Amino acid sequence: MTDKTASGDVRLAGISKHYGSFTAVHPLDLTIPQGSFFALLGASGCGKTTTLRMIAGLEEPSTGTVSLGEREVTHLPPYKRPVNTVFQSYALFPHMDIFENVAFGLRRRGIKSVKKQVDDMLDLVQLGQFARRKPHQLSGGQQQRVAVARALINHPQVLLLDEPLGALDLKLRRQMQLELKRIQTEVGITFVHVTHDQEEAMTMADTVAVMNGGRVEQLGAPAELYENPRTTFVANFLGTSNLIQASVDAAGEEVVVSAAGTRLRLPGARCSTTPKAGGNLLVGVRPEKISLVPADEAHALAPGRNRVTGRIVASSFIGVSTQFVIDSPVCPELEVYVQNIERDTRLVPGAEVVLHWNPEHTFGLDAAQSVLAGTMGDAGVETVEESA
Ligand code: ATP
Repeated sequence: MTDKTASGDVRLAGISKHYGSFTAVHPLDLTIPQGSFFALLGASGCGKTTTLRMIAGLEEPSTGTVSLGEREVTHLPPYKRPVNTVFQSYALFPHMDIFENVAFGLRRRGIKSVKKQVDDMLDLVQLGQFARRKPHQLSGGQQQRVAVARALINHPQVLLLDEPLGALDLKLRRQMQLELKRIQTEVGITFVHVTHDQEEAMTMADTVAVMNGGRVEQLGAPAELYENPRTTFVANFLGTSNLIQASVDAAGEEVVVSAAGTRLRLPGARCSTTPKAGGNLLVGVRPEKISLVPADEAHALAPGRNRVTGRIVASSFIGVSTQFVIDSPVCPELEVYVQNIERDTRLVPGAEVVLHWNPEHTFGLDAAQSVLAGTMGDAGVETVEESA
């Protein structure tokens, strides 16, 4: 659909946005490759919608430029930019049927024979059989698909999606995430998606920019961000991380640290800062990387694993896994997720246990950061209600 010979990357150079003395977006340089599915992810108020609106032309940047390919569009009004936006409130025309809603953009451009294009677009979003229904006769997910079809009909170079699934319930949202991903793969145009939902961003996007306080804190492929967070904010905001405060005993290809008398090892390459012997380091490990055994079985563990002792203080069975909270000398609240294959009935609150994991699964972060950044306990993060 797009001209593959011309580079259609979205380029933001030094764009920022001030409202009076408040800076909603700090100067930001960002390139969104043509044809990618890109997500701006962050808590409420981090500046993601403002960034999207500056790409759309709905907000004038205080500084910097917006370019689409070689063309600078900073001062073009929204309707002159080759972009279109899908909002959370799909805002379909209630008096028009689905066909006419999708045809609207073509008719406005004076195009008379719209049938083939509208039919193709309705097929793309799998709503061909609903062409003659009115919006109120469709479910929320179907209405959102009409909104996507309506936004794509004029072949924009970039489709901007502002929390498009926010009004849908959780199950429908999951379905729509896969559906949007399929549509994006099929049409091949750049999608820029704004969401506060980390699972949504990771499911759909090739590249995620995690925003915090008007800045991009880290940018990368979902698995890269998850496995190698560079800040405590990203470690906590994207999934859950156990962060252990430790002092560095030896630094090099392998880093050896101590926390409350327990020695732990991790690869130097997985540290986002350069550890120095005698300095401090936050040692991170994801809950699903950790295994649990009753303390009296720890002698049988293979050597070379990181090991921590503790006591189970809480456990919750959530079907695929059981989630444990462990009080340990190295950290008062370690989280461990154990897959429910064969459930060990000895792993109950009060049980003394040993946690063990492969040192390769450990990452290191600069210790001069708040361990709470990006968690519910962080004053900077507003909690967002999840519709069930
Ligand atoms: P949400 O998910 O809640 O929409 P967001 O990350 O998209 O949050 P923005 O809408 O980009 O956040 O807003 C960033 C910050 O800028 C917020 O603190 C917001 O209150 C502020 N802001 C946005 N628009 C204006 C405005 N017109 N005037 C003053 N402040 C604004």
